[in-house]
Amino acid sequence: FNTIPLQGSARDELYDLTETFNRMIGRLEESFWKQQQFVSDASHELNTMLTIIEGYANMLKRWGNEDQAVQEEAIQSIYEETKRMRKMTRQLLMLASSQQSTKLNLEPVNMVEVCQQVIARFHLINERTIRLHASPGAKDIEADRNKIEQLLIILVDNAQKYSSQVVDIFISGKDGEVTVAVKDQGIGIPQHEIKHVFERFYRVDNSRHRKTGGTGLGLPIAKSIVQEHDGLIWIESEEGEGTTVSVRLPVRPAPGPAKKSGEIRC
Ligand code: ADP
Repeated sequence: FNTIPLQGSARDELYDLTETFNRMIGRLEESFWKQQQFVSDASHELNTMLTIIEGYANMLKRWGNEDQAVQEEAIQSIYEETKRMRKMTRQLLMLASSQQSTKLNLEPVNMVEVCQQVIARFHLINERTIRLHASPGAKDIEADRNKIEQLLIILVDNAQKYSSQVVDIFISGKDGEVTVAVKDQGIGIPQHEIKHVFERFYRVDNSRHRKTGGTGLGLPIAKSIVQEHDGLIWIESEEGEGTTVSVRLPVRPAPGPAKKSGEIRC
């Protein structure tokens, strides 16, 4: 800079370039630290599960032969924790793949049909009632069917996990958008926690949710699927009254690579 005298516009251009470069480095650093944090959180979660399994295996080794109750408790807990671990590794893979993939497998998707399929899947697992309320305005959307199914499974699974009552699904559509709301009458989410539940591994109360087999990855995956489809996801909840998670998707997502900037309202 000292040896080459720069004239007005060249200096401005160089200044702009340096600014852009600094911003890019800043973004790269931020994404690097986020990845580091993610790997560290995932390792921590998996390590906790292994510690629990190890603890029960030790219990089994020491007292399992003499005490039938201890034996049963240890085996059941090892089984539950292994199931959770399997679920978490599957979800981690899902998150990683949704972060890498740039293209959605778009096809016409009828939301009512997908909801009916998801309800049928849940009926195979349990007998709980899920009611579907569809308004006639809901059109087919251009979407990745597998991902939309995955999204609904996450929301219905949560609604059932955190309530013991009936779950309602509402589908409506207008102005080139379709909205799906999954409503439960369960434990609800405290107001100050709502904004955090889309963060990876966040659970409102760890101890309360260990029993439910939760991983804290369901809503982050749901958020990433909605963002890929150019949509919105938001939560309304009242502690002790219930929770409604709503998703609004455009009938046709804007062309271009997968989006990562979709708004989330809480
Ligand atoms: P998890 O596997 O723990 O359910 P999620 O990412 O799906 O993870 O949800 C994060 C947290 O948000 C849950 O642990 C729970 O505390 C809260 N949550 C999500 N859905 C509901 C719901 N329908 N009712 C009450 N709490 C919920």
